[in-house]
Amino acid sequence: MPTTVTLIPGDGIGPSIADATVRVLEAVGADLAFDVQLAGQAGVTRYHDPIPDATLDSIRKTRIALKGPLETPVGEGFRSINVALRKAFDLYANVRPAHVILRGGRFDKVDIVLVRENTEGLYIGVEHYIKIGNDPKAAAESILVITRQGSERIVRYAFEYALAHGRQKVTLVHKANILKFSQGLFLDVGREVAREYQGRIEFDTQIVDAMAMKLVIAPEQFDVIVTTNMFGDILSDEISGLVGGLGLAPGANIGEGAAIFEAVHGTAPDIAGKNIANPGALILASAMMLDHLGERERGDRIRNAFEEQVREGRALTRDLGGTAGTDQFTDELVARVRG
Ligand code: NAD
Repeated sequence: MPTTVTLIPGDGIGPSIADATVRVLEAVGADLAFDVQLAGQAGVTRYHDPIPDATLDSIRKTRIALKGPLETPVGEGFRSINVALRKAFDLYANVRPAHVILRGGRFDKVDIVLVRENTEGLYIGVEHYIKIGNDPKAAAESILVITRQGSERIVRYAFEYALAHGRQKVTLVHKANILKFSQGLFLDVGREVAREYQGRIEFDTQIVDAMAMKLVIAPEQFDVIVTTNMFGDILSDEISGLVGGLGLAPGANIGEGAAIFEAVHGTAPDIAGKNIANPGALILASAMMLDHLGERERGDRIRNAFEEQVREGRALTRDLGGTAGTDQFTDELVARVRG
C-alpha cells in the first residue's frame, strides 16, 4: 500500500518545483500516492479561500504534506497561511538543516540543524495598540509567551533529533540575561531536559547576540541549535546565508499528529513561469519527508545524488552558477537517482 501524501503545489514557481520533486521521488522508488490540494492564491482563485477546508481535511487524513511556496494574499480578512497551518496541526518544531555543498568558499565545514520552536514566543499574534490622549497608536504591546510544556517538548525534540541523526551536540540559544522570566524559563527547562541526555549528547548554551556573531566567525563549532520562535526565525536565515542561499534550504514543520515539508524560499514571482527556478530546496525537503516516513536510505540517495550533481556542476540552474532550466536540472538528477 503506498503512503498517501498531501501535495500542495503552491503558487508562483511552486507547481514547477513540485513537479520536479515528484519526478525525483518516483525515480528513487518511493511508494507514495499524492492527494493534490490547493492553498494560497491557487486556493483563492478556485475556492475563494487561501486554506480551503478540503486541504485541511486531506492533511488531517494523511498527516503528512509536501508544500510548495504559497502567496499570502494581501488584504483584510486573509489569515496568514503558514501560521494557520502551524496552528491547525500544532506543528511545534521547525527543523532547518544547512550544510556546505560547494567547498572552497568562505566556510567549508558548516553542518548545522536549527530547531526552532514554532508555536509560542513572540509570534503568538497577541498584540494591540495603546491609546494615549488623542494618539490611538501612542504605544504598542506584543505579548511573548513561553511555557514549560512548549519549552520541554522542543528541547527534547532537538536532543532526540541529535540522537537519531548521529549528532554530537545541542546548543540552546536564549536571552535569559535580560528576559529573566520568559527566556529564563526556556533556559531552566532546557537544562533539566539536557541532564537526561548527559553522557550521550553534549550540551551548551549561548546568548543570542553572541551566537549571531559566533555563527559568522566560526560556524563549524555548532551542530544542533535549539531556540525560541523569533530567535530561530532570524538565526535560520543567517545560517542559510552561510551555505549558499535559498535554492538549497529545505525545512520541516513537525507536530505530534502531522508534518509539513517545504522549501524555505517563497514563490519567486520574478522568475515564475520561466523554467529557471532551482527545485533543489523542495527536493531536499522531500528527502527529509522520506526520513520522517522511515525511508532514510531513499532520502540519502536523493541527497547524495543532488550534492554530487552540484559539486560536479552538471546541469545547474542560474542561482547555482549554471545555465540549465528547471527541467534539465531535474532530468540530470532523475538519471543520477536511478543510478
Ligand atoms: P522569495 O523567496 O520568493 O524570492 C526571493 C529571491 O530569491 C527572488 O529573487 C527569487 O527569484 C529568488 N528565489 C527564490 N526561490 C528560488 C529558487 N527556487 N530558485 C531560484 N531563485 C529563487 O521571496 P519574496 O520575493 O520575498 O516572496 C515572494 C512571495 O512568497 C510572497 O508572497 C511571500 O509571502 C511568499 N513566501 C512564501 C513562503 C512559504 O510559503 N513558505 C516563504 C517565503 C515567502
